[in-house]
Amino acid sequence: MAQFAVIGLGRFGSTIAETLIKKGADVIAIDNDEKKVEEVRNFATNAVCLDSTDEQALRAIDITNVDAAVIAIGENIEVSVLTAAILRKIGVSKVYAKVDSELHSRILSIMGVQRTIFPEQYVGREIANLLTSQHIFNYTEISKEHSLVEITVPSFFVGKTLKDLDVRNKYNISIIAIKRSEPTVDEFGNNVLLEETNVIPSGDDMLQESDRILIIGKNNDVDRLIRLSEKRQTKE
Ligand code: ATP
Repeated sequence: MAQFAVIGLGRFGSTIAETLIKKGADVIAIDNDEKKVEEVRNFATNAVCLDSTDEQALRAIDITNVDAAVIAIGENIEVSVLTAAILRKIGVSKVYAKVDSELHSRILSIMGVQRTIFPEQYVGREIANLLTSQHIFNYTEISKEHSLVEITVPSFFVGKTLKDLDVRNKYNISIIAIKRSEPTVDEFGNNVLLEETNVIPSGDDMLQESDRILIIGKNNDVDRLIRLSEKRQTKE
């Protein structure tokens, strides 16, 4: 089972901890405020009250064995930086951190923190992406450069197989799932839509008009395909 540490249990950190636990991960939840630790004990079995700038305290809870640690302390840069330095020193291989400014992000990146997250910017970009397109149902940034996006099938993809479309070469993206809704009648005789998701579709799968597809690729390539799809739609 994957094991993670979440340091700082404000809204950001406790949401990450709760979501990881719901997904079945093993989480060490840490805060130096006993009240915050108490709150997460509702869903986390391994919640510890300690100061993350105390190297001995971190070593004592075996934090070196986690697959990744998230530093969810944004406001106090000194604490965040010191915590990152200790985690790197004691051998935590992957460290992610919440940041409140560009400077904070740059310092942590130099120190070897793999990913820094500006929560407001991150959510803001996702919301803007959702708002600017009627074709997007979900937009998730999976790195600074890549996104995973759920869109309606572009009209020029309808009736074609994935092999015909050759999206990897033509659009530099991959289609990783097809969501299809089939009208059906339930046990009470009501007309309902049965949604099926075909994950990792094959080259012979053909796209239908009402399908949604999950695409993954570089932000520029994903955006290009969405814009192309919208342009063609307006013309039709
Ligand atoms: P959020 O925006 O996620 O709600 P916040 O507004 O509470 O966070 P932050 O400064 O980002 O503010 O702090 C996040 C959490 O980190 C707090 O719960 C705080 O108690 C905890 N924290 C601060 N310093 C330390 C430390 N040295 N060791 C452990 N936890 C700490």
